[in-house]
Amino acid sequence: MGESPDVTRSIVSGSRSLQGSYGKRGICTSVRNTLGVKKDLRSSPNAGDRGEVIVVGASAAGLYAASRLAQAGRKVRVLEAREELDPARRSLIVTHHFRHQVNGQAQGCIRNEIRRFELFTDGRSAEITLRKPDLIIERARLIPALARESEGAGATLSFATKFLGMAPNSGGVRLKIEKSGFCDELHAQQVIGADGATSRVARAAGWPPVETVPLVQALVRLPKDYRQDTTRVWFVPDDTPYFYWLIPESADRGALGIIGEGSGEQTKRRIELFLEKKGLTPLEWQGARIPVYRGWVPVRRRFGRGEVFLVGDAAAQVKVSTVGGIVTGFRGAQGVTDALLGNGAGGALRALRRELGTHWLIRRALHRFRQEHYSRLVDLLNAGARSSLSEINRDESARLLWNVCLRQPRLALLGLRGLLMGKQSVLGWLNF
Ligand SMILES: Cc1cc2nc3c(=O)[nH]c(=O)nc-3n(C[C@H](O)[C@H](O)[C@H](O)COP(=O)(O)OP(=O)(O)OC[C@H]3O[C@@H](n4cnc5c(N)ncnc54)[C@H](O)[C@@H]3O)c2cc1C
Repeated sequence: MGESPDVTRSIVSGSRSLQGSYGKRGICTSVRNTLGVKKDLRSSPNAGDRGEVIVVGASAAGLYAASRLAQAGRKVRVLEAREELDPARRSLIVTHHFRHQVNGQAQGCIRNEIRRFELFTDGRSAEITLRKPDLIIERARLIPALARESEGAGATLSFATKFLGMAPNSGGVRLKIEKSGFCDELHAQQVIGADGATSRVARAAGWPPVETVPLVQALVRLPKDYRQDTTRVWFVPDDTPYFYWLIPESADRGALGIIGEGSGEQTKRRIELFLEKKGLTPLEWQGARIPVYRGWVPVRRRFGRGEVFLVGDAAAQVKVSTVGGIVTGFRGAQGVTDALLGNGAGGALRALRRELGTHWLIRRALHRFRQEHYSRLVDLLNAGARSSLSEINRDESARLLWNVCLRQPRLALLGLRGLLMGKQSVLGWLNF
């Protein structure tokens, strides 16, 4: 899919048209209300209320939420700190569940289909074929498509507009923003924080910070014999408690990545050594810190007479076993928008909570695995376990886990051992 410059320009110019009312850049001193947002929305902040919803963050989760709300007839304004719609390039892997979440336009970000996983550890390997292919998507295409969709549905996107803080007021929430160097105020009853792992909205509304880990990937030219439909995963516990992966985005290019612990620099050094070992040269680097899910983050808080919601990375809606946040961020956005529209959010959010909880259990089981445990894991992947992994994707993790354990009970024992290893280290840390 080619990015449509015209639509991108219209989105950007939508933000520019606001700039005239802000004057010179560089100082955030004056306080004005120039965005035309109603100062006080007096009706109670109930589901189905028709006032404007302000979404902070024009990335995957925020635009998905904005689009759903606007399509249902809600007035929506999206604030984005960046100057324009120019998202950093990232090759991402998602399950085929993604196809059910987005429409035709956003599906244009799909660059490749993955039908096979190869797992490697210490000279051993296992292969898993997927009945329904995973998808490789390009974030720099997804975000503009979601922006076009939400704008098309009637949402207003304001770029170069940074959320600074908020306070309760008589009708709901007063937001302090900075627009091109000047301070301003907006008022709404309902605010959605979709501003990522270090969410300022969450801090301002009283949520505690979430822990993050660095994720670094390098775009590389694929080795000659590499199959375009295959993702490779390497478990190297001396380097990372997570794993390395190589996902092909086309016949000749792919993204080799690592999730680390500690600093981004350490993680980058590790991946550089790994690339060297594999004889691969980085063509381009991508990376950011990703939240680590360590328990459900309640997505709604009363704030004075208003309400604040969190979606996506801001609420740590990331599968912590693989650190994938697109499908789960969309699911979080769906739950929150259902709540705002009075569509009974409970189901979607409960299912997401179960999903994230199962990934947290899997992560805890794997996190202290040493080399011998990964070797055993790969050896234990019998035909039955592989067939479960082929049929059920990782966005249905409880069913997947249950099926794998039924078909290879020794994997359940290995997982239990991993969980106990974690417990021992916690007990040791507490001096028991
Ligand atoms: C290199 C890399 C590879 C990844 N690979 C995968 C993968 O393969 N599969 C997968 O599912 N996930 C992957 N992820 C994770 C996934 O990209 C994230 O979970 C997802 O993009 C989070 O989206 P989000 O909308 O919640 O937050 P973000 O994308 O972080 O967006 C937050 C937005 O809020 C804006 N913002 C922040 N503060 C303010 C403010 N004060 N005022 C106004 N705006 C603000 C930011 O500019 C940004 O646009 C990867 C992440 C990285 C870094």
